[in-house]
Amino acid sequence: MDTKSFQDLIKEVHDRGICQECGGCVSFCSSADYNIIGFIDQYSPPEYINKDKCLECGICYYICPQTHILDESLNNTYKFSEFSSMPVGHYEEIYSCQATDEEFLEYGTDGGVVNSIINYLIEKKMVDGAIVSRTDAPFSREATFADNKPDLIRYSGTKLDISSQLDEIQKFSTYTHSIPELNHYKFKKLAVVGTPCQLYTIRCMQDLGVTPSENVEICLGLFCYENFFFEKSQIEKFVKDFNIKLSDIKKINIKEDVIFKLIDDGIGEKIIHIPFNHLKNYMRPACNACNDFTNVYADISFGGLGSADKYTTVITRTEKGKKLFSQVLDAGIIKCADLDSSKKKTMIELISQFSQSKIKRKEEFMKNL
Ligand SMILES: Cc1cc2nc3c(=O)[nH]c(=O)nc-3n(C[C@H](O)[C@H](O)[C@H](O)COP(=O)(O)OP(=O)(O)OC[C@H]3O[C@@H](n4cnc5c(N)ncnc54)[C@H](O)[C@@H]3O)c2cc1C
Ligand code: SF4
Ligand code: SF4
Ligand code: SF4
Repeated sequence: MDTKSFQDLIKEVHDRGICQECGGCVSFCSSADYNIIGFIDQYSPPEYINKDKCLECGICYYICPQTHILDESLNNTYKFSEFSSMPVGHYEEIYSCQATDEEFLEYGTDGGVVNSIINYLIEKKMVDGAIVSRTDAPFSREATFADNKPDLIRYSGTKLDISSQLDEIQKFSTYTHSIPELNHYKFKKLAVVGTPCQLYTIRCMQDLGVTPSENVEICLGLFCYENFFFEKSQIEKFVKDFNIKLSDIKKINIKEDVIFKLIDDGIGEKIIHIPFNHLKNYMRPACNACNDFTNVYADISFGGLGSADKYTTVITRTEKGKKLFSQVLDAGIIKCADLDSSKKKTMIELISQFSQSKIKRKEEFMKNL
């Protein structure tokens, strides 16, 4: 294969509208302070900053989730051969779990399991901290570093009560540019929480043995059917269409559909379910070109789908993930719902259905590209 460069990513990925903005290319290329590419507009694909300095090494091209150059190698490492016949990827076990710590459970998205595990890793000095995400404005998330429990709690959940910021902010995205953050913590051992596109690019870097992936100790993957992007005018349309005041939203959960829990107005908590297909206008277009729902390359994957309210679905995948999960269970950090094999089978079938639907959505989208 000819050596590729960022110019090829522009042609084959950006110009086709399928850049997932995972930031893998930026993270690798800026890790040595080359300052060659970067996110100039945080809601658009990365761009050349100093094109003349590009070494045409091709690494950005190899680690991009949209070129799929390293798929075969990754599939071998992560023990599955054909994605389409095994849509949930290789897994060791599936559980439905909940944090035993009341604060993680109260402020967590589902069962507060992800942040409980990160807190355990920090307390046991297995990592120095984690790249997570915090809410700064309605439907907006920003990558950040957390190395203690109060910060993990502060960044947890959905904080949408910042209505005054609506006047200043013109664009909102539920997606976070977490991967370039790795470069700010070069000398730390990190846990990373990420969507499938983000963890794919980290795994490619690890496969090639390139920096900054050596700092990543453990990959905690979130299920992800899609992410959302709103112009300010769309937020206003969203509020009107669904009759939901942003300041009333207490929590957002994602299971078979998107669930908005509103604050108790004295007559009980109101819950609104919005099917994914009603949110098409707000979906990030590049998410159409993505086929991994369950984060098949994570050490452990986490989602809401398949579990009851206040529980997180947990899928252990790698040896490292399996060992960590068994440690946190033994330590009493999380507890599991009692599921027999038939309930586990039902969970896997439901999750497989969503995975298949995402694979099909990508196939259709790519046909019409
Ligand atoms: C954008 C997005 C889409 C999702 N889509 C689905 C879905 O379609 N189906 C499904 O079943 N589950 C989905 N999930 C996963 C689900 O919402 C929960 O995050 C998961 O069940 C873990 O819950 P928890 O209570 O154990 O996590 P918590 O203990 O609350 O921890 C959640 C962790 O995720 C981090 N985080 C939050 N948002 C982001 C983000 N945008 N990027 C990176 N990290 C982030 C937080 O910082 C925190 O560390 C999605 C999550 C996100 C963030
Ligand atoms: S130097 Fe290499 S990684 Fe950086 S933009 Fe050029 S080809 Fe991509
Ligand atoms: S690596 Fe990520 S950010 Fe870079 S071009 Fe590919 S999808 Fe876009
Ligand atoms: S669907 Fe999720 S994993 Fe796929 S590109 Fe969108 S944000 Fe990334």
